[in-house]
Amino acid sequence: MRDRKIKKLIKREQTRQNKTLNLIASENFVSGDILNALGSVFVNKYAEGYPGARYYSGTEVADELEELVQARALRLFQLSSKKWNVNVQPYSGSPANLAILLALVPRGNLPAGRQGKIMGMRLDMGGHLTHGYKASVTGKLWRQIPYVLDPKTELLDYDEILKLAKKEKPKLIIAGGSAYSKVIDFKKFREIADAVEAILLVDMSHFAGLVTGGAYPSPFPHAHVVMTTTHKTLRGPRAALIFSKKELSKNIDRMVFPGIQGGPHMNAIAAVGVALYEASLPSFKKYAKQVVKNTYILAEELKKLGWRIISGGTNTHLFNVDTFKNSISGNEAADLLEKAGIVVNIEAIPYDLRPPKDPSGIRLGAAALTTRGMKEKEMRLIAQIIDKILRKQIKEVKEVIQKLCAQFPIGE
Ligand SMILES: *Cc1c(COP(=O)(O)O)cnc(C)c1O
Repeated sequence: MRDRKIKKLIKREQTRQNKTLNLIASENFVSGDILNALGSVFVNKYAEGYPGARYYSGTEVADELEELVQARALRLFQLSSKKWNVNVQPYSGSPANLAILLALVPRGNLPAGRQGKIMGMRLDMGGHLTHGYKASVTGKLWRQIPYVLDPKTELLDYDEILKLAKKEKPKLIIAGGSAYSKVIDFKKFREIADAVEAILLVDMSHFAGLVTGGAYPSPFPHAHVVMTTTHKTLRGPRAALIFSKKELSKNIDRMVFPGIQGGPHMNAIAAVGVALYEASLPSFKKYAKQVVKNTYILAEELKKLGWRIISGGTNTHLFNVDTFKNSISGNEAADLLEKAGIVVNIEAIPYDLRPPKDPSGIRLGAAALTTRGMKEKEMRLIAQIIDKILRKQIKEVKEVIQKLCAQFPIGE
């Protein structure tokens, strides 16, 4: 690379990634093959439109690529192309959700009633910005009817969600989030959606990799639309997929392009194809199961050491810790951990009284460390390390962290 400055930054970032323990639940490490596909000549190609109906010439290879990736996506989640359609063009999860909502939920100055209402998990409960939060454009174009967790158990209360749906009659209900640590009951969500004739969108961005790996139930038997990012537990490049029942797909496709996007990022689509291939290998099933095991051990060990875990624990790839219960704010905890060589993100806890910029907790996940090859033994050690750091004994653990990093290098 002739650009010395960028080259140096890439090198430094590589070193940073290698020398930190990454517990950020939404991050992962992609394979060298995925990096190659992302950096391939597909980056040069404009292919506005869809296979067979493009606005540019020279798209015969791009067409074949996009069709292959579509077929792989359907196959990976065991979907029949007679019932389901998949759009592989979304640049990322946020535009994908925006396209789905624009396609399926009326907005604007509509008469009172169900129109324009979307039901999503409130942000401090573990929901995502794009599920109708006020600061997101989705909260400005539509009215969010937020559902919450039970204040005592911090679990989804499906009876309460049903009551709320019956009262508000939303046009669309979103199941899924960014920080809910327990498996979601999609069947119950579908019953709720059916009771008010709403569309059920499952946003499986976080747990898609667990679904393909058989470590989380599939939402497909119950959902009308399923969105996923490809870069979290699915371990691919930054992009997204929208699966929809055939009767809804035309509107969704039209809203992705030309509605909100221009030319698809064919290099990203190629890399998604590689990720889907990798996720179809038997080793990925093992990986997904190990992620859940590792996360469980990490949470249980932290509990034993006196840390309060939101929702009582985890059976997924992530969980949140109420650090403020032990008098440490989320920011303070994240800063202490980063100083020692562990990266996490700050996270609101249900009914948080502290501001979103310095909430009461942190979110932890084991997907990235599991990709590095770590197992239960390392998780137990990391729980002890985290406990020491948060009790301000940073010096004692820095070396242990570096040893762990060196022992489990990031492949390519
Ligand atoms: C990450 C995430 C998104 C958004 O994805 P980006 O690629 O960051 O735009 C949407 N929904 C959920 C539930 C997510 O976790």
